[in-house]
Amino acid sequence: MRARILIIEDNEQNLYLMRYILEDCGYEIHSAQDGREGIESAASLHPDLILLDIQLPTMDGYTVARHLRQNPALAGTPIIAVTSYAMPGDREKAVDAGCNGYIEKPIDPDTFEVQVGQYLGMRGHGERRS
Ligand code: MN
Repeated sequence: MRARILIIEDNEQNLYLMRYILEDCGYEIHSAQDGREGIESAASLHPDLILLDIQLPTMDGYTVARHLRQNPALAGTPIIAVTSYAMPGDREKAVDAGCNGYIEKPIDPDTFEVQVGQYLGMRGHGERRS
């Protein structure tokens, strides 16, 4: 079965690029443009992986990750923060919010596919957090 990936991203160009690369890999791609929509989509789709922009309108990605982690049905779903924030501590902040990993923007088409593949391999191992 094709892996199902939910992309929560408000920037249309970033969304287009990620969708383009990942559909080319054969993944089933769904998208949401804000946190509320992303949380609802995740609950109904049960994606294999969630790519989560941190800079989102209304509700930031950290808050979205915390909400997603309150859903037991998504306990085995890796959540990967995708963000241009490169300040020290941002990676830790993402992990504290419940993310399993971090991909830096701008998206590098040469490595993005490999990174996503690696994170998909984390599926079903439950929460990393102790
Ligand atoms: Mn954004």
